[in-house]
Amino acid sequence: LDDIRPAAHLNGPHLWRLPRPGLRDHKYTRGHAVVFGGATMTGAGRLAARAARRLGAGLLTVAATASALPLYAQDAPGVLCRAIECPDDVETLLEDARLNALLLGPGAGRGPHTAARALSVLATGRPTVLDADALTSFAEDPGALFDAVTGPVILTPHEGEFAAIFPDLIEGNRLHRVRQAARRAGAVVLLKGPETVVAAPDGSAVVSTNGPPSLATAGSGDVLAGAILGLLAQGVPGREAAAAAAWLHGAGARRGPPGLIAEDLPEAMAQAAAALPG
Ligand code: AMP
Ligand code: MG
Repeated sequence: LDDIRPAAHLNGPHLWRLPRPGLRDHKYTRGHAVVFGGATMTGAGRLAARAARRLGAGLLTVAATASALPLYAQDAPGVLCRAIECPDDVETLLEDARLNALLLGPGAGRGPHTAARALSVLATGRPTVLDADALTSFAEDPGALFDAVTGPVILTPHEGEFAAIFPDLIEGNRLHRVRQAARRAGAVVLLKGPETVVAAPDGSAVVSTNGPPSLATAGSGDVLAGAILGLLAQGVPGREAAAAAAWLHGAGARRGPPGLIAEDLPEAMAQAAAALPG
């Protein structure tokens, strides 16, 4: 813990106001988020989509290969589904300027296909969360990822994913490592763990120690990525969205049932958010 004292500690909701729907809001004013869903590992995208919606995104489109879409649609009747088979389909989808926050990585599959899709997504300059395979797919050439960052981007690695794209930053003071990573990437970097560090390219950083060990369960990182997405869609800036989602992730886990599983988290996080002063 000595390592992280220089950062502002994020042990409570001091640094942001969570979006609340207003009387004149309609679904489009609450943001339209996109989850690029995997073709075979569909659970990750489904968890992320649920979290984004529970945290208030007005609309959520799952974009995935046609053969996988029924899985997404059956799981969540309220999501919009969009078939994407080739890069042109992605370009066409992203022509809709109302799609204002994008998530790629959970369940995406590691390889050049996912790296290429990440570059298409980043080229839009729209608020974007890259997690999991969208990070590790750049292990051979992380510079290609950093060079493509133009808009507000949040990278959400765990330690292994962090090591894949910042191989020279795996040792030393955790806060210092994440700050260097954020500066290099030109993106907000959220390094997951019991002390989750969120750093921005300007050097500002917060640490959430709110996450209990019950978060060590499959899919919990996918929920976190989706929660950030949902806040971005509502206009929360990247650093604040990442920090707030990290805090709510822990708060939700603390409220969740014994034997917490990732499926419990979206609702529990929304309950934690609702319990905060408006
Ligand atoms: P992932 O590895 O992508 O599934 O993400 C796991 C999530 O659970 C991250 O948000 C971690 O910060 C959190 N997590 C995992 N293990 C622990 C732990 N022992 N204590 C607190 N949070 C944890
Ligand atoms: Mg993960």
